[in-house]
Amino acid sequence: MVLKVKVDRERCQGHARCNALAPELFALDAFGNAHEIGDGRVPAGLEDKAFLAKANCPELAVEVIEGEGS
Ligand code: SF4
Repeated sequence: MVLKVKVDRERCQGHARCNALAPELFALDAFGNAHEIGDGRVPAGLEDKAFLAKANCPELAVEVIEGEGS
C-alpha cells in the first residue's frame, strides 16, 4: 500500500506547520503556502509524519490518501 499526501491549495492559508513537521513531504512557495513534494508519495518510514502533518493543519488542507501501487 502506498500513501500519498495532497494539499488542498484552496484551503491552505500558509501556516507552514506541515513543512515544519514534515519537510520531506511538503514544500512552501514564495508566499508560504504549501504543496506536496513531487507526486506526494510518502516514502517508507515517513507515514507517521504524513498523518502528523494532516492532524496539525489548522485549515484541514492536508489529505493523506491510501492507494495501491503507483
Ligand atoms: S499546515 Fe495546512 S494551511 Fe499550513 S501551510 Fe500546511 S497545508 Fe497550508
